[in-house]
Amino acid sequence: MRPILATINLPALRHNLGVVKASAPNSKVMAVIKANGYGHGALVAAQGLSAADGFAVLELDKAIALRQAGYKQDILMLEGLFTEDELAQAAQLDLSLVVHDFRQLEMLKAAVLAKPLSIFLKLNTGMNRLGFAPKDFTLACQRLRSCANVAGITLMTHFATADESAGIAEPFAIFQCVTADFDYPRSLANSAAILHYPQTHMQWVRPGIMLYGATPVSGTTAASFGLKPAMGLASEIIAVQHLQAGDSLGYGNQFTASRKTRVGIVACGYADGYPRHAPNGTPIAVAGQLTQTVGRVSMDMLFADITDIPAANIGSAVELWGTQVPVDAVAEASGTVGYELLCALAPRVPVKVID
Ligand SMILES: *Cc1c(COP(=O)(O)O)cnc(C)c1O
Repeated sequence: MRPILATINLPALRHNLGVVKASAPNSKVMAVIKANGYGHGALVAAQGLSAADGFAVLELDKAIALRQAGYKQDILMLEGLFTEDELAQAAQLDLSLVVHDFRQLEMLKAAVLAKPLSIFLKLNTGMNRLGFAPKDFTLACQRLRSCANVAGITLMTHFATADESAGIAEPFAIFQCVTADFDYPRSLANSAAILHYPQTHMQWVRPGIMLYGATPVSGTTAASFGLKPAMGLASEIIAVQHLQAGDSLGYGNQFTASRKTRVGIVACGYADGYPRHAPNGTPIAVAGQLTQTVGRVSMDMLFADITDIPAANIGSAVELWGTQVPVDAVAEASGTVGYELLCALAPRVPVKVID
């Protein structure tokens, strides 16, 4: 069997949920398990995060799968619903819906539902992605209030720069101002806001990335927030090459040896979800020792410099990311974020779940 394996660690998910709860002790937790649970598997993530008060997803079939698996928590559809026929199903499944524009509001008003739905009314506080403009928010809220299909209302927004120096002061002030007259529960905080801005916690927090043990804030480590990686990606060395000074390696000769170099060929490539843009020098661990990648990542293989790891040989264990090599370190070297790498884990990689 090809030796690549992703390991999903349920105790780490539980631990990270504990970090969320300790950070926001007075808030309910809507665990975000969109994008297939950030690559961990939506149902696997739900299993590890079963102590959450709710789950947030994007697709109706994910919500159906959660209900079928027996989860009774709130399930929030983060982009709302897309077509009218989904509304009746949503009511049957007792889902909560984001309503972010008048089209969705009209759809909800026109629907004939078995029971009313809980609504998260979304305000656009400057990210300009989803949400009602401040000038329309009061009207939208009043319309929801008078709608027979609405069971409860939560006011929500999403921050564009909770993870950056711009912070949340401006959008937070807009939110406070626009929602001042409404006495409904509120939901604002993603992972970065949970860690940095307690004033945004309110009734519901919406953590994603921190639950999976990666950092929401570039340039910081997940470990510094007490988070543990929930996903490990491991493989093995399947061949060894000996380069002389001047010899090149892989597609495009992206690496040329400046000394005698031993290279381990690792059974992991971009078709497994490893970033093709990872440059020479990206951290990787072989036989328990930290070293660096060399050469261009190919579809099914990449190269590790094992010159200084004499014990490394065919069959040696390789950690692409996990406890020894934070996924954020691989992401940073590759010019992206841990989010993207976790979400991109390829379906062809076998997954083992540790409980
Ligand atoms: C994805 C998402 C989150 C979670 O964000 P993280 O940065 O992963 O914590 C929260 N709220 C909304 C609306 C989202 O789309």
